[in-house]
Amino acid sequence: MRKKLIAGNWKMNGSLAANESLLKGLLAGLGSPACHVSVCVPSVYLAQCQALLAGSTINLGAQDLSQHEAGAFTGEVSAAMLREFGVRQVLVGHSERRQYHFETDAQVALKAGRALACGITPIVCVGETLAEREAGKTDEVVKRQLAAVIHANGHCISEIVVAYEPVWAIGTGKTASTEQAQQVHAVLRAQLRAASEHADRIQILYGGSMNAANAAQLLAQPDIDGGLVGGAALKVADFLSIIASAG
Ligand code: PEP
Repeated sequence: MRKKLIAGNWKMNGSLAANESLLKGLLAGLGSPACHVSVCVPSVYLAQCQALLAGSTINLGAQDLSQHEAGAFTGEVSAAMLREFGVRQVLVGHSERRQYHFETDAQVALKAGRALACGITPIVCVGETLAEREAGKTDEVVKRQLAAVIHANGHCISEIVVAYEPVWAIGTGKTASTEQAQQVHAVLRAQLRAASEHADRIQILYGGSMNAANAAQLLAQPDIDGGLVGGAALKVADFLSIIASAG
């Protein structure tokens, strides 16, 4: 039985004051969650959030990392740097990185490898656009995106987390139906099984307008092992409610 993971993606939101209020609120209401919980925060706030989360059950995550190890890459943050701040998980290949920063499947695979080499779990995001879904290409797109990561990191693929995030559902208020989500998760599970004998322990998260109202139904699906939560992760009550749904 896979333990579920609820990961918050703060995106480019927050401030010193807002982060403190959000994390203190979460810690006050969390109790002993039945699932793993993490927050992926903007890099400039890693030190602040590391201090606020010290000794807690909430893991610290980042939203991106460099595909390079070190050197002349102005503006980039390496896996080793993230590790120094206690980062346990990092998003790679989020659709906003693919869309606005033109990240390719090959770059996403390299980033996943950098994270793994530093003992950080990459949360590998895959997902189709609305046009791709309407063209009947959903399975082909998500399998291609995941295949790049599998081929580059085959020997340690069981150490990744996968997040299926249909691009048309991110930040739009539109959620994939439980059937649509489960169907894609099953496709991804089959692909992982073909690549690794340990595939059944890999968590596959759903992301895309997950909220307090729809989380329980999504999380009840056999291949949905948690959620990657954007907007609702910025509200204490909503995020706590989603965490409770994963019990
Ligand atoms: C995300 O940013 O990964 C996400 C799923 O956002 P939202 O929950 O706001 O759709």
